Amino acid sequence: MPDLQTIVADIHRELSPRFGEGRLPDYIPQLARVAPDRFGLAVVTVDGAVHLAGDADAAFSIQSISKVFTLTIALGKHGDAIWKRVGREPSGSAFNSIVQLEREEGIPRNPFINAGAIAISDLLLAGHPPKEAIGEILRFVRYLADEEEIVIDGEVARSEAATGYRNAALANFMRSFDRLIHPVEHVLGVYFHQCAIAMSRQLARAGLYLAAGGTNPLTGHRVVSPQRARRINALMLTCGHYDGSGDFAYHVGLPGKSGVGGGILAIAPGKASIAVWSPGLNDVGNSALGTIALEMLAARTGWSVFGA
Ligand code: GLU
Repeated sequence: MPDLQTIVADIHRELSPRFGEGRLPDYIPQLARVAPDRFGLAVVTVDGAVHLAGDADAAFSIQSISKVFTLTIALGKHGDAIWKRVGREPSGSAFNSIVQLEREEGIPRNPFINAGAIAISDLLLAGHPPKEAIGEILRFVRYLADEEEIVIDGEVARSEAATGYRNAALANFMRSFDRLIHPVEHVLGVYFHQCAIAMSRQLARAGLYLAAGGTNPLTGHRVVSPQRARRINALMLTCGHYDGSGDFAYHVGLPGKSGVGGGILAIAPGKASIAVWSPGLNDVGNSALGTIALEMLAARTGWSVFGA
């Protein structure tokens, strides 16, 4: 295998004629304003080597990738009790689908579809006003990445709140089944702000605990137990790309979580944490070129969890 820096640089160069492919998510106006031809790739290995290409230093909206971090906090606070509120099965439906939720009486299929993440935001509000819950999430992400500069993009949060009719519908629907404890506006406030966290290559560092059995090998922070890290990875593999999760496992073979900001966090257990960003999305709402870049990376490194 060529060295990792060469692989990362080659992927960037080979994909450059395609930069700009895919569609921007116009249902969040602020995200539709991002230059579509941006592309960044950051690979941080468990021994601390960092390999970057393209716009790896540009901050992007992590959107649903935040759901990995809120799930981690919720598991830390409430343990297995969270599985009374959300399931652990892939949905096979779009990220914002409401149909399944009615059939399953307000219990979302998994913590990574929007309804599931909204239920997790409700859990994080226990004992806190919304501002504190949001502050706690931001502090946790800074702690994971070991970077104090990470911020929430207030414009993105406001933009989504102004047009988040679907998410408001999901939250109200769950409330109608008595599945949310806190006021819908508070829950959505937490959810929209966690989605609006902006990160660059910092995201790869933040995911490192999942690549290294629950402990960030660079800082020594023990974030979760090895068993919990394994289980979060399992959920990312089966549910991290909405109804594109099967295809992502087939082509890439790594636990991953996508966001409509065009970012993907992928974990190569025992090896590395990877962040890729390219804003254009494919038909199921995952980064079009980001997915292809990860497929190339997994093929060239032999990192697929299903074998080299
Ligand atoms: N904030 C987005 C939404 O709720 C997140 C979706 C995503 O990133 O996939 O619609």
